[in-house]
Amino acid sequence: MQTEFIGKNSLKNIKKIISDLDAKKILLVTGKGSYKKSGSEEKLIQYLGDAVIKRFFDFEPNPNIKDVEVGINIISSFKPDLVIAVGGGSVIDIAKLINIFAVHVAKEKEIYEFVNESSSVKQAGLPLIAIPTTSGTGSEATHFAVVYIGNKKYSFAHEYVLPNFSIIDPSLSYSNPAYIKACSGFDALSQAIESFWAVGSTEESRSYSREAIKIILSSIEMAVLESDKKSMDRMSLAANLAGKAINISKTTAAHAVSYPITKFLDIPHGHAVALTLGSFFVINSHYSESQLNDSRGIQYFDNISKELLNLFDCSESEQVSQRLNQIMANIGLEANLKSIFSKKNIDYELIKKEINLERLNNNPVKVNSSQIENLFK
Ligand code: NAD
Repeated sequence: MQTEFIGKNSLKNIKKIISDLDAKKILLVTGKGSYKKSGSEEKLIQYLGDAVIKRFFDFEPNPNIKDVEVGINIISSFKPDLVIAVGGGSVIDIAKLINIFAVHVAKEKEIYEFVNESSSVKQAGLPLIAIPTTSGTGSEATHFAVVYIGNKKYSFAHEYVLPNFSIIDPSLSYSNPAYIKACSGFDALSQAIESFWAVGSTEESRSYSREAIKIILSSIEMAVLESDKKSMDRMSLAANLAGKAINISKTTAAHAVSYPITKFLDIPHGHAVALTLGSFFVINSHYSESQLNDSRGIQYFDNISKELLNLFDCSESEQVSQRLNQIMANIGLEANLKSIFSKKNIDYELIKKEINLERLNNNPVKVNSSQIENLFK
């Protein structure tokens, strides 16, 4: 269970959390530059009282196993009573990982084994407060954390990974540059769409994703292009809703294929997901009963597909794909994966090896390897 606070003054709740927990030592996990740029430092400091503070910020975006090991060692030596993560998805994920791993493992080799075996989690970590400064991942609302080991991306999942508290203050996202707003906005949109059609979806997850899709379609362009505050506030809320949706359903094919796009083509997560979202909209609209992964059957999935088309005000999936490409172009995201791929001179076999197969099983329609290859070549 998580306690959440949403709104412009919601950071003030930290004071009461610290007092209720009687926290004397706090580990702050933050971005290197975003802690100051986002206004978090200035806002947060007034609520931390006399607690002894240590800040961990020296790690790369998209957490890797080496950085996780460093963070675990900091927890072991500093022995905080509370962890506060303030930043984008990378910051929140590394805080989640070191917090849970610190009570179980210490060395890189053990971490490697632990990542592959979330059933070895026996104990919760320290109380964790997650405060997002981007509007995209919804990581503050999920029980997953992403970590790279070499070129491979793992999503570590356990109920204890979910932060105990989330605080969404939309004003912390205002300072994001346009490209980051565009990437994170598309991450949230992809999560909401993928969650809606996912095999793991439920009535509850669809209610979150339905709301998120509506908000994002009406706000993303104004948020990115005009830095309109109301639109940025709405994007912040939508990202959290999309996080709640995937926390139940998990993501599907566009996310599965995005991992090597980020790693080998050096494209940020949200942009990487956006690059195949339209194509999967089309792939997922051409199916027969035997091609469905979802045991709820064809009638059920026909209704899901219709509702998704309605949310976009379109009658064909190809129109949705065009609309997504148009939004990408409007907000400055290159939409042509083939052209990006051809410029990079990367062997497709490398990409193929790193596609997350578990996520493909959660896609409503079976996808074969030649369909995926066609997205790149
Ligand atoms: P990010 O955390 O990597 O941040 C991107 C950049 O934005 C960084 O340079 C950061 O310093 C900067 N930044 C952050 N906030 C800022 C602000 N307010 N002003 C100015 N700059 C700011 O990007 P992200 O998209 O938030 O997170 C991506 C990561 O999250 C990926 O590793 C992805 O796999 C992961 N993810 C996790 C989940 C989950 O449920 N755990 C879900 C989706 C994505």
